[in-house]
Amino acid sequence: MADHKVVCWDCSSVVDDPYVNNCPKCGGLLTVKMDLRPVKEMRPEDLRKENIGVWRYAPFMPVDPSNKVSIQEGGTPLYKTDRLSKELGVSQAYVKFEGLNPTGSFKDRGMTIGVSHAKELGAKVVGCASTGNTSASLAAYAAKADMKCAVFLPSGKVAAGKLAQALFYGAKVLSIDGNFDDALDLALKMAEERKIYLLNSINPYRPEGQKSVLFEIMDQLRYNVPDRIILPVGNAANIWAVYKAIQELKEVGWISKVPKLTGIQAEGSAPVAKAFAAGKKDFIAEEHPETIATAIRIGNPVSGRKALHAIYDTKGFSTTVTDKEIISAQQLLGKKEGVCVEPASAASIAGLKKLLSMGIIDKNEKVVCICTGNGLKDPDTIMDNSPPVIPCKNSVKDVERILNQ
Ligand SMILES: [Zn+2]
Repeated sequence: MADHKVVCWDCSSVVDDPYVNNCPKCGGLLTVKMDLRPVKEMRPEDLRKENIGVWRYAPFMPVDPSNKVSIQEGGTPLYKTDRLSKELGVSQAYVKFEGLNPTGSFKDRGMTIGVSHAKELGAKVVGCASTGNTSASLAAYAAKADMKCAVFLPSGKVAAGKLAQALFYGAKVLSIDGNFDDALDLALKMAEERKIYLLNSINPYRPEGQKSVLFEIMDQLRYNVPDRIILPVGNAANIWAVYKAIQELKEVGWISKVPKLTGIQAEGSAPVAKAFAAGKKDFIAEEHPETIATAIRIGNPVSGRKALHAIYDTKGFSTTVTDKEIISAQQLLGKKEGVCVEPASAASIAGLKKLLSMGIIDKNEKVVCICTGNGLKDPDTIMDNSPPVIPCKNSVKDVERILNQ
């Protein structure tokens, strides 16, 4: 564990109260400032004694491993996707498949650190307001840690299927009178009164665990830094976490080159991409975001300003893709590489295709696409876009006829 402090990203004040999620002085976003001096004495090989995964990078993490709550998150494959590269016309594309985390999404990287920190604080109850991958992940880590887990949701707008994992892991899923903001406000109030430890995206410890996806990519590429990393952007904490990891590796002298961070949003839910197109440092929230990629259907991203900073500072890019392009990219990845990602994840592949055709990405670049979640989380979308089952007579001849069609 590295010594660290929680500071305000806007005014640099040090924040000591572990239960606050915004700067008490200016209301700004919080972030963790690590003291990496001990890591400067180390080399990447020194960490390879531990299995690949979030906790291999414990010297970069703000939690003592003795409080570890882990379900062996991270250590996901980095596929060299030659067939996809050929199809898209790029020399080297890789896919980091985060859908193979314990609950099927990258959220587990942040939750192992967030829930371990909650344990360190002595919290007995954790909570979040979320219908998707966040609640699934938190519920699993709370189960492992023997903590109660509360999921706050607006009444009447809850699709049970999306909550299957949270319910399965034993979370108390609460249907609150009011809209999503009311549900989140109640969760924040519970956190302020220290009745729960809140693990929504605004929590500054979660991005610390999410940094590990970048550390792993570098490890898997033997520190041959890629030219570009492409990610889907929803609440925008992940692109921020990847940026923070890059800065920390630079600080300890393990890399000198910086990959261009490229954030892809869905056309109907694109506050960050629109701000980038206008050259702005801040975004305008969208009231009614809409896209098939539910994991990035977010109109007011918590870490939107941090994401824009990450993109500008690495000379990256941001753009939008349509739902049609997302589904087509999802299917392409399945058919060319045997990888099944959820629609939000496919946005990174769709973005690569679009930016190659626009000439923003050069065909000689080495590109890593981060695919954040497993396609099996959203089987309805897969079935809606797949051909039907084929009726077949009980005969070899009929099977052959069909296979030759
Ligand atoms: Zn502040």
